[in-house]
Amino acid sequence: MNDRRRISAEAVVIGGGIVGCASAYYLARRGVQVALLEKATIGGEASGRNGGGVRQQCRDRRERPFAIASVKLWEGLQAELGFDIEYVQGGNIRMAANDARMESLRREGAEELEDGLQVELWDRDELRRRAPYLGDVFIGAKYCATDGTANPILTTKAFGWAAQRLGATILTRTEAVSIGVEGARVASVTGRDQDGEIVVEAPWVINAAGPWSAALSRAIGVEIPVEPARSVIAITQRCAPLFREFISSHDLGVYARQAREGQVHVGGTNVPPHTFDQRAPADVLEHLARGAAQMIPALRGANFLRSWAGTLEMTPDKVPILGYVDRVKGYILATGFSGHGFCLGPIAGKLVSELVVDGAPSLSLHEVRFSRFG
Ligand SMILES: Cc1cc2nc3c(=O)[nH]c(=O)nc-3n(C[C@H](O)[C@H](O)[C@H](O)COP(=O)(O)OP(=O)(O)OC[C@H]3O[C@@H](n4cnc5c(N)ncnc54)[C@H](O)[C@@H]3O)c2cc1C
Repeated sequence: MNDRRRISAEAVVIGGGIVGCASAYYLARRGVQVALLEKATIGGEASGRNGGGVRQQCRDRRERPFAIASVKLWEGLQAELGFDIEYVQGGNIRMAANDARMESLRREGAEELEDGLQVELWDRDELRRRAPYLGDVFIGAKYCATDGTANPILTTKAFGWAAQRLGATILTRTEAVSIGVEGARVASVTGRDQDGEIVVEAPWVINAAGPWSAALSRAIGVEIPVEPARSVIAITQRCAPLFREFISSHDLGVYARQAREGQVHVGGTNVPPHTFDQRAPADVLEHLARGAAQMIPALRGANFLRSWAGTLEMTPDKVPILGYVDRVKGYILATGFSGHGFCLGPIAGKLVSELVVDGAPSLSLHEVRFSRFG
């Protein structure tokens, strides 16, 4: 039975994570007729399961301008999207448990200040004064006041809803199975939903399929070096308000934020690579509970009620891939955010819209170009 259906658009986005939804939103806002294909549900993968950290500090230097520009967008996002995404610009504390870590934070801080990101270094006394809830294992910290947190699933959905209000077509439970290329230019994306095949014809295709972006691209001869990796989060029972910052310790291998309702979300900074396995193993959950209690003594004995894992999309140098693919006209990659893409989602989407509409982005994409991998 041939049940192919056809729709046409000016741009088609593959993937309904924060990068895909933000791309659809900013494209629709620029008046582009856009369709988005999501194989399952909006925000169902990493974009809805992440740690909610909206941070600029402690990033690769190449990525820093994007994080700074993204936070400028975050500051107005709640009003712009017309939805409470629980964004709090509550700061970000990166703690040090030893001299070597403090020294590396100091070096990184000097570079951040040079790049226009305001950070402060705190010694042990200042850390006690500013964050008395933290354990005494830490000897100091680096702090960025303009960093913050938001609710991942609400933010991703809010982008999707806002795009829809502006006229974007959002097709959920629709898996993109192939990208059509005619001559040297993209022409369509074929998807599959419960009713069969659907073809979206468009001169622009944005691959924002996260850890799955490589498989789709391979079929048109574009090998994207993106690998999956697992990251786990454990969530406590509701606690009294303890802190509003995003906090992390590389020495303990944990980070945390406290959600508005009081649950503390604890994640790990060490992730096993090369897996799509989304189980949350018992030893990882024990590590997170132990690390959380060391980081915040008030969490000793706290009940962890839930946990989940998400799949990261890692590049070899842990910096995203954003921009055109020279060999295939109209094909844009927005992938490989390597565990930092929640914060970067808004600016990634805005830059995608500029590539389509203006032919030139407002921020240089040189450092995140696909061709850096040869
Ligand atoms: C546990 C965890 C904690 C994290 N913490 C943070 C944090 O604190 N701060 C931060 O900035 N980042 C964090 N991240 C990273 C961040 O979540 C990701 O970098 C970001 O969500 C990537 O967004 P994305 O839209 O590119 O990908 P995804 O969210 O993976 O979305 C890709 C979407 O594409 C869809 N898809 C795939 N293939 C197809 C197809 N063929 N057809 C149609 N749809 C398809 C998928 O179903 C998925 O919904 C964390 C991630 C995890 C897992």
